[in-house]
Amino acid sequence: MRKSIATVSVSGTLMEKLEAIAAAGFDGVEIFENDLLACPLSPEEVRARAADLGLGIDLYQPFRDFESVPPEVLAGNLRRAERKFQVMERLGADLLLVCSNVSPAAIGDDELAAEQLRLLAERAAEHGVRIAYEALAWGRHVNEYLHAWRIVRMADHPSLGTCLDSFHILSRGSDPIGIEAIPGEKIFFLQLADAPLLAMDVLQWSRHYRCFPGQGNFDLAGLTASVLRAGYAGPLSLEVFNDVFRQASAERTALDGMRSLIALEQSLDGVTHPAVPAGFAFAELADPDPGSGTLGGLLSALGFARTGVHASKPVELWSQGEARILLNAGAEAGEPALVAIGLDSPDPGGAVKHAGSLLSPVLPRERAPEDVPLDAVAAPDGTEIFFCDTAWLADFTPGTLVAGPITGIDHVALTQPLHYFDEAALFYRSVLGLRPQESLELPDPYGLLRSKAMSAPDGAVRMVVNIAQVGAGHLPWQHIALACDDVVAVARRLRAERPGLLLPIPGNYYDDLEARYEVDPELRRLGVLYDRDADGGEFLHLYTVTVGRVFFELVQRVGGYQGYGAGNAPIRLAVQHASG
Ligand code: MG
Ligand code: MG
Repeated sequence: MRKSIATVSVSGTLMEKLEAIAAAGFDGVEIFENDLLACPLSPEEVRARAADLGLGIDLYQPFRDFESVPPEVLAGNLRRAERKFQVMERLGADLLLVCSNVSPAAIGDDELAAEQLRLLAERAAEHGVRIAYEALAWGRHVNEYLHAWRIVRMADHPSLGTCLDSFHILSRGSDPIGIEAIPGEKIFFLQLADAPLLAMDVLQWSRHYRCFPGQGNFDLAGLTASVLRAGYAGPLSLEVFNDVFRQASAERTALDGMRSLIALEQSLDGVTHPAVPAGFAFAELADPDPGSGTLGGLLSALGFARTGVHASKPVELWSQGEARILLNAGAEAGEPALVAIGLDSPDPGGAVKHAGSLLSPVLPRERAPEDVPLDAVAAPDGTEIFFCDTAWLADFTPGTLVAGPITGIDHVALTQPLHYFDEAALFYRSVLGLRPQESLELPDPYGLLRSKAMSAPDGAVRMVVNIAQVGAGHLPWQHIALACDDVVAVARRLRAERPGLLLPIPGNYYDDLEARYEVDPELRRLGVLYDRDADGGEFLHLYTVTVGRVFFELVQRVGGYQGYGAGNAPIRLAVQHASG
């Protein structure tokens, strides 16, 4: 399908926006009027530039507060429209978005609205322009899409149709199934935006928190399927107002928008994810100073053993049970950091091909000729994601395997720059096939931690994507959470043998915990944190101190607990900040 995006969705001047949008492969744009007003080029020059870039101008918007007005206001509105039609002719745009009137002076009379919109359509037709009438979720009298459609039907003019906007429909909780009763040729335009579920004023929600399909909580695929079943054949157009996107790189935002539409099309076509990962193969840490033994020492204290050395690279394999950590002395990093994640994949080649279809950068793999080939893509924060079958282990000369209380990798938590947070959510969902779980905002002593958990349907792979909204100078921490059979036993041993290795937890935390639950008093003595879910599932966990950018968490899930102990994260953050 034809793919478009509103210029308001990306940052920059109108020319910068058009270039970024064209580079991302879009077919067309909605020109947002303010972008044109602030542009030094004439409409003819904008038209020529768009054409040079291969972009059609699919819509000009918005035209506000037109319909349902007293006669003396109507004359002025028609004069205003006449001038816009002239601009559109110069731009080469033939579709004008008219949004439902929000003025307190608007009259609640559908017949009047229809009559005036018909008049507008007649005038528009003289300029070869068509009108797409959209119900704003906060329209004074018209705020439901079916209401806008009834008025369009009543007006009954070939140059008047409706514009459907997923945000306005889904934010009000309207059922999109009603779209299927609208004749497809009367749906003149479709605007797509997702959004996180937020309990707030709908206008503020729309202006600041819209995001691309797949980044929020709305069912965009379901709505779009209804629009297509109605017979709509126009573009899929992204219209996103987002405070972060306004500041982010236009190229990157446009590319992410394109990714969201490709993923949406794939889900409409019933393309199922070819290769949802079945587990963690490894996590790889940059170890720029292996001589210090800092990371190796931490791992051996946790019961890991060095069980292999790479045949051709300065990489060590440390393992315990199914938990495998690679320490890479050759990785480019100034301090210990998580640089790569290996995922067990049923079809590594298919997974990379799928990632490529979603415009993810597939990584070239420099390796010695005898090395096993590995398929990898870059996550939005630069972390390398490898799709592995078991062959990768052949690169390591094997040492003795060790069994211990740590059995595997439970989850990996990455901290994203603010600008990549929504992009990361879409990446993990569309490229890896993970499903969004909980989204949280957690207090940090110096800011706020936003966090989104994603997991494979069977829980075999769990990822947590964080952004730290804190002042400059704070490290973006990453962590690897290790699944453990007996967190209390490990804590007992470490508190005795290596007391400085575990994060100290304040006694006040336990005063509160013991007020809520009857828990073993040993948790307090050992600094083990605890959570319980509504079904009685329990979570015991503890944290190591941070090395470079990385720390480890040991987690024990009991009785089907599916969360991440998020309520305890603010305690952890406060202690981490205090221990510098
Ligand atoms: Mg809209
Ligand atoms: Mg965790």
